[in-house]
Amino acid sequence: MKYSLIKKIILFIFLCFIPIALSSPHALTEGSQELESMGQDGIIVLNYHKIDNMDISLSVRPEDFDKQMAYLKNNNYHIITPDDLYDNLEHGKELPSNPVVITFDDGYEDNYKNAYPILKKYGFPATIFVVSSFVSQYPNYLTWDQCRELKANGISIQSHTVSHRSLTELTNEQIKNEITESKKKIDAELGQDTTYFAYPTGTYNLYVAQMLKDAGYRAAFTIKYGTAGSSSNIFALERIPVFHTENTYNSFCKRLNYIPLFEKLGWIKS
Ligand SMILES: [Zn+2]
Repeated sequence: MKYSLIKKIILFIFLCFIPIALSSPHALTEGSQELESMGQDGIIVLNYHKIDNMDISLSVRPEDFDKQMAYLKNNNYHIITPDDLYDNLEHGKELPSNPVVITFDDGYEDNYKNAYPILKKYGFPATIFVVSSFVSQYPNYLTWDQCRELKANGISIQSHTVSHRSLTELTNEQIKNEITESKKKIDAELGQDTTYFAYPTGTYNLYVAQMLKDAGYRAAFTIKYGTAGSSSNIFALERIPVFHTENTYNSFCKRLNYIPLFEKLGWIKS
């Protein structure tokens, strides 16, 4: 009983401290230093959806996205690919300091129209997880031609299933279909071996992870908040979602700079 009281008091002190820490004027300028001093050893995998001006949380405005990319460029972050991440986690390949992977889920057309020119400007590679049956099928989603152009210019196209249904609610046969048919379709359209996967709505279990492995994937990404590191499951990699907020830029910087603090407290982990 006594112990749990102490824990509560410590938690209370932490909770009081955080708003002060986050509003510190030094927070933005001392970002990367902050990461080092707090012993951040994971890889930041940013997770975007739409890059446009819609007033919904999934939409980050193009000008905000541009500012965020500029922030990464100017603060000594290094953009790496999922292959770099995989080779590091599985084979110990050395990475540059402050590594960041940029990912987009769902394969919206605005990724091509709005995000791609900005990524190009900064020379950043990125990965788009597409829903294979939506491509060239619905307006506002990418076409296969756009996917081919993106791929030729450093933007990797990977799988987000066939139909974007939560995998843990499907039968074994349906899960297998979502995993294998999306891979087959992307492989055929882009002439590649699709090896990375993002779980629709973030839902997964060990059974689904094993099926991904059997189907030939190397790694899979969740929407579990955190950095990917040596303690991560390669088929349940953590990411940092970036959403539209009142002040998207500030919240983006805070999220980057205070990841270790959030992790220690077990915050936002779902
Ligand atoms: Zn999705």
